[in-house]
Amino acid sequence: MHASLIVAKAVLALLTLPGVHQAEGLLQAEANSPNVTSLTEYYTAVESDGSFKIHRGDEATAIIHTDAQTVLVMHTHPDCYLPQPSPQDIAEAARTGIPDIVVSRYAEYVVMPDGSVTEVR
Ligand SMILES: [Zn+2]
Repeated sequence: MHASLIVAKAVLALLTLPGVHQAEGLLQAEANSPNVTSLTEYYTAVESDGSFKIHRGDEATAIIHTDAQTVLVMHTHPDCYLPQPSPQDIAEAARTGIPDIVVSRYAEYVVMPDGSVTEVR
């Protein structure tokens, strides 16, 4: 199978995991909120049982805590940043082995641990 097709299937499988769609919707709503200040970032870690908790911080201080049950992390990019995953986002996915969804007002990307980045919205 072509490598990009394997990645696309892995990304689609991730998006259907329990809790992921709900967390995604909440983060999209936050990213689109007119009340968000330029540095506000929302982030969450989705666990294998589908549970998650949304945290609020700013781009400089947000730390996403993960454990062995974490299947996926997600965070928003404020409007003052590029919607694409940052080099740090890509490095962190590779280091932890945990995929990362980056949600912004106009776009959404999935970073896989192999460094691939797929635009999903
Ligand atoms: Zn980021």
